[in-house]
Amino acid sequence: METTVAQKLEALMKLQQIDSQLDEIRKVRGDLPEEVQDLEDEIVGYETRIEKFRAELATFEGTINTKKNSIQESKKLIARYEEQQLNVRNNREYDAITKEMELQDLEIQISNKKIKEAQELIDAKQAQIDETNHTLEERTKDLDNKKKELEVIISETEAEEEKLGRSRDRASKGIEDRLLKSYNKIRSNARNGLAVVSVKRLACGGCFNMVPPQRQVDIKDKKKIIVCEHCGRILAGVEDVVEVEAPKKRKTTRKKKVTKKVEEENN
Ligand SMILES: [Zn+2]
Repeated sequence: METTVAQKLEALMKLQQIDSQLDEIRKVRGDLPEEVQDLEDEIVGYETRIEKFRAELATFEGTINTKKNSIQESKKLIARYEEQQLNVRNNREYDAITKEMELQDLEIQISNKKIKEAQELIDAKQAQIDETNHTLEERTKDLDNKKKELEVIISETEAEEEKLGRSRDRASKGIEDRLLKSYNKIRSNARNGLAVVSVKRLACGGCFNMVPPQRQVDIKDKKKIIVCEHCGRILAGVEDVVEVEAPKKRKTTRKKKVTKKVEEENN
């Protein structure tokens, strides 16, 4: 079914109204959803860090075990050497065994030193783990609070948002893909979320730059889709607010008189 430009513009206008309402709902949430997301990311970071620290702890503990085992081995050797020393045949043999024993003794000293070092590393790492755990707990509390806060806000607007979501689906169905894509693109670039606006008081309702008279005529004609030459927003119509409200506004300010004068010149 062929749709006219006027119908397309009307459909876009409707979609815009729905989206603006959705924007309002989301505005109430403020930065909360992002804050929740940031905290969740931060917490994952701490958890990863703790895991890494624990793996390092395991390595140090492994070192200690290895060294303890080698001390046991050295002690066994020393005991065996002591026995052998009782059965030596000459001084040379005795001295050789003594040398071996000294060597094992040195091994034990080195191992003890390594164990001490590893223990120090473990203590330092454990302190880091405790500190990170503490921060993790704090952030988890923050996250729980923010999540609760967000849940309350969401629950208050959930029904309305769902209803608007359904209206949005219906409204976008009637709009061709290409147009819908442009609409979404303009909207994502616009700070106020407006992609479709009317000309109000001779100016674009999105960026408030003046729209030339001939362009306004074309917009009113609705023969083709016209965008604002300054901001790129779709100009769906012209609101003759000034003309209608002019009589009671005449007495107010000079600025408005000027506006009206321009309007007259344009017509
Ligand atoms: Zn504009």
